[in-house]
Amino acid sequence: MTYAYLKTNIQQIRKAIDSVKRPWTHPVTLIGVTKTYEADIINESIAYGIQAIGENKVQEIMRKYDAVAEGVAWHLIGHLQTNKVKYIIDKVDLIQSVDSEKLAMEIEKRAAAIHKIQDILIQINVAGEDQKAGIAPEDLPALLELISKLPHIRVQGLMNIGLFTDDEALLRSHFKKMRMLFETLPDYGYSNVTATHLSMGMSGDFELAIEEGATMVRVGTSIYGKRNYS
Ligand SMILES: *Cc1c(COP(=O)(O)O)cnc(C)c1O
Repeated sequence: MTYAYLKTNIQQIRKAIDSVKRPWTHPVTLIGVTKTYEADIINESIAYGIQAIGENKVQEIMRKYDAVAEGVAWHLIGHLQTNKVKYIIDKVDLIQSVDSEKLAMEIEKRAAAIHKIQDILIQINVAGEDQKAGIAPEDLPALLELISKLPHIRVQGLMNIGLFTDDEALLRSHFKKMRMLFETLPDYGYSNVTATHLSMGMSGDFELAIEEGATMVRVGTSIYGKRNYS
């Protein structure tokens, strides 16, 4: 085992996750965010219990896909360009970052072509930051209505990228808004929309996110170490 620290990191994070007092009874899924890391490290983390991995770039998924152990769930967590859906539609278990009607329609088309029902989350920009991906909360009803007519897509919940801030109260208020939106999902009454996953929280704020109702946390740095983008 070359990367023994992974075992310690994963155990510590799992312990931290399980010790947070949370409003849900169901378990919290730990997504190992593996961007910039290669298959050997990823595979060792899978051996230590990581069951789902998150990547933010289509090219990285393509490059690593065949070398990563089978059976792990692949999540796309970064912005997805419409013209790249075709490359990953047969590979990803959950697209967490759906943020437009155009993208939803392309996913429908590509999923239908391979007879797949694609699970997705809708990414919400709850902080209203200009530079961030995700739809405004008020645009959620229209997007859900469109998706309700797309038989090869299943909305399983919502995703949010938290602010990079030390202001815990502000962060918490955004997580609370996310949970409120999440809890409205069943009210729409669409058969392909459920409130199953609320994906929020990263290395710096996953405990806070779980306290506010996250069912899925995306942790990179605290498992794999600092990323080197060069
Ligand atoms: C990189 C990334 C993460 C993980 O961030 P860390 O701070 O390294 O845990 C989570 N979510 C998304 C969307 C990311 O791009």
